[in-house]
Amino acid sequence: MTQSTPGPVGRFHSGRVAEGRPQALDAWRVTTDDAEAAARVAGLLGGRPQPNEGGEALAHEVLTKAETVRVLLEGPDAVASHMVLRGSKGIVHRCDGLEFLSPEEKKGRPCGCPPLLADRKLAAREGRGPSPSISLTFRIAAEPSLGEFRFMSGSWQLAVQLADLTDALERVDGPAVCDLALELVVLTTKAGRGVCYRKPVVTVLGSSGTVAPQSPPPAQSAPAPVPPPRRRRTRPTPEPAVLDPAVPEPTAPESTVPPSPEASHSVSVDAALLRRAAEVLGTDGPEETVAAALSEIVAGRQRTAELVRLREQVGRIAAIAGQALQGRDS
Ligand SMILES: [Zn+2]
Repeated sequence: MTQSTPGPVGRFHSGRVAEGRPQALDAWRVTTDDAEAAARVAGLLGGRPQPNEGGEALAHEVLTKAETVRVLLEGPDAVASHMVLRGSKGIVHRCDGLEFLSPEEKKGRPCGCPPLLADRKLAAREGRGPSPSISLTFRIAAEPSLGEFRFMSGSWQLAVQLADLTDALERVDGPAVCDLALELVVLTTKAGRGVCYRKPVVTVLGSSGTVAPQSPPPAQSAPAPVPPPRRRRTRPTPEPAVLDPAVPEPTAPESTVPPSPEASHSVSVDAALLRRAAEVLGTDGPEETVAAALSEIVAGRQRTAELVRLREQVGRIAAIAGQALQGRDS
């Protein structure tokens, strides 16, 4: 369906930039140039409007309390995606995974991307191949008249879902009611570390006539898809692939002080450090690496605390034993 509206009223983000570094968030962040829309979003999703200092040109941002937002998607056209590799001089490779989409002289020719997802991810991680660039256009189901919002994502996990998503959207007559969620993922790495992070997930619920437009209450807990064998309270970690293409990536590869897990609700990393950490930790992806590193920090603290407790107990046992020996000797 064609809309005569001039572009989206605002954007959804799973992260922001703070002090030049990307941060992942555990609830949706909305940016807009429209002060009234910002106020309405805050009313619907929690949080309050504030001047946007999180990285984009839009004037206002709302750090909402919602990890799941009920939205309306107008058919498969609400989803657009391609694969893109950017270099220092702009786009180097833009394709649909099989053929080039641009520039014009290469369009339609085989692009040479490997067929397997794992190989694509590896190529992208090493800067040789493109990453997903996904755009979702939707309205907030509780107040569609606010206008269209957009969510841009580079998440491989969202990219993998897209075929099913567009199929599901095709099957719904009219606008589809969907839940757009920042889903908590808890898993164990191959090295046996418990990690968690958030990934964007779209669930098609049905047509607007059959599904309530209200978002679920913000306090609802996200189901963990993988039963956590050693569940630790780690902070949500950034998934660099989810960053908005519009967000400037920090270029200076200066070292990063590992953030304290208690210090804030989000953490930041730099790419060079992340690659090194992946080698050391033997992890499989940036999100795993960061989460594993954080788990190590948390585990380290727990071990230190346990060691202190043990030392105290040993000291007490030694004192009791000492007294007992003294009593026997006298
Ligand atoms: Zn390609």
